[in-house]
Amino acid sequence: MADVQLQKINKCFGSVEVIPSLDLDIPEGSFTVLVGPSGCGKSTLLRIIAGLEQPSAGQVIIGGRDVTRDEPCERGISMVFQSYALYPHMTVAQNIDFGLRLAKVPAAEREKRVSEAARILHLEQLLDRKPAALSGGQRQRVAIGRSIVREPKVFLFDEPLSNLDASLRTQMRVELAQLHEQFTATMVYVTHDQVEAMTLADQIVVMNAGRIEQVGPPMELYEKPRSEFVATFIGSPK
Ligand code: ADP
Ligand code: MG
Repeated sequence: MADVQLQKINKCFGSVEVIPSLDLDIPEGSFTVLVGPSGCGKSTLLRIIAGLEQPSAGQVIIGGRDVTRDEPCERGISMVFQSYALYPHMTVAQNIDFGLRLAKVPAAEREKRVSEAARILHLEQLLDRKPAALSGGQRQRVAIGRSIVREPKVFLFDEPLSNLDASLRTQMRVELAQLHEQFTATMVYVTHDQVEAMTLADQIVVMNAGRIEQVGPPMELYEKPRSEFVATFIGSPK
């Protein structure tokens, strides 16, 4: 587990400034949810934390260490995307194991981690299947399994459930909450779904045009929105 601090993050793509100057503390072990309209910079911010994108200025601190110039693989983070590319020719078990094999984790340890992930994600009966024989929700669980086994200090999720139908989303929401409890990991989760934000978060960050409008626990934002924008976004009457 580790906390994440963003200090004076600025991001430009060419001449377009998408994040002017952003400060954010993500406490260790928190479930922090980023919400905001499409194009406000949520994915960019996650990618900056992950190291998939360099900030134009500012620092990324993970667990007290400045990782701004570190490679993604050196940061102790793991990212789950909306479109989860599983290897079609590999079984579920092989897909989950793949990153560990690359990292040369010893076989006995790999086996232990894969079966633990399968237990948590209810994939035990599916370990020998190929991705084509799985439902959308099961595939997304495999993608999450791949993250879990690497035992990251910080999990990043970019709208991981948005391709799933409503009932599956509800089910996965419950599972993600359980996952957070079992792993006591720091989670940073992007969604545009207010229900997901309200039920999963212990801290919600409302973003608008590359800026933070308000940060706080769900009920605080709901009951005391600081602006019309937050009230509208969180869904409370102001
Ligand atoms: P969100 O995830 O909140 O929908 P993004 O972080 O994807 O928003 O995008 C924020 C802004 O940055 C958008 O205006 C988007 O067009 C722009 N943007 C994102 N990535 C790039 C890129 N690689 N090159 C140029 N512009 C980009
Ligand atoms: Mg996005």
